[in-house]
Amino acid sequence: MLSALHFLTHIGLSWILANLLPGSRKDRWLVVLAGILPDLDGVGILWSHSAYLATHRAVGHSLLFGLLLIAIAMLRADRPWRTAALTAISFHLHLVLDLVGTGGLPIRYLWPFSDRGWSYQGRWVLASWQNGLVMAATLGGVLWIAWRRARAGRTMSL
Ligand SMILES: [Zn+2]
Repeated sequence: MLSALHFLTHIGLSWILANLLPGSRKDRWLVVLAGILPDLDGVGILWSHSAYLATHRAVGHSLLFGLLLIAIAMLRADRPWRTAALTAISFHLHLVLDLVGTGGLPIRYLWPFSDRGWSYQGRWVLASWQNGLVMAATLGGVLWIAWRRARAGRTMSL
């Protein structure tokens, strides 16, 4: 349950980031995906625990994967430079939230070139007031942006 809320926070934060600057729907999607796709490397749990340990917080949380996402943004976005910059921020915001907001496996940012794992000693446990505050602030930000966009759409249609 808390892990699901943590994942929703990843989605919400990247969605807020995607909406900070005006851009096309496709560009916003690229930024949001950069904030959630890193956790695809947890799919190894479907095979085995050792596959999960070998790949989670390595493959999708690596600089290499981040560069791939940025390259895709550069190639596919309507506004490549701005979207690529937001994609880089979105990807790294995911890493920061993982480092600070959860325990779990260290992040192997330099995978596959190095297996050195990065973790933060002062991290919060998942069930902490700090995580609750971040989740609530993210929800508030999402609702505020959605309300503003709905209001702007109504104004423009008048
Ligand atoms: Zn993650």
